[in-house]
Amino acid sequence: MCTDVTIFCPDCRGRFVVESSDIVEGEVLECSLCGAEIEVVQEEPVKIQLLVEE
Ligand SMILES: [Zn+2]
Repeated sequence: MCTDVTIFCPDCRGRFVVESSDIVEGEVLECSLCGAEIEVVQEEPVKIQLLVEE
């Protein structure tokens, strides 16, 4: 079963939706609004952070 999860982009503060199957710890999501890369740091509850490239 697939459910949609709303992600709040920490960069542009917009909202975009991904499938729950995309919420995997360590997975990098891309904001559909600003293209920022956002890392999933925790699955339940969902925690994300802006991916910072070193
Ligand atoms: Zn964004």
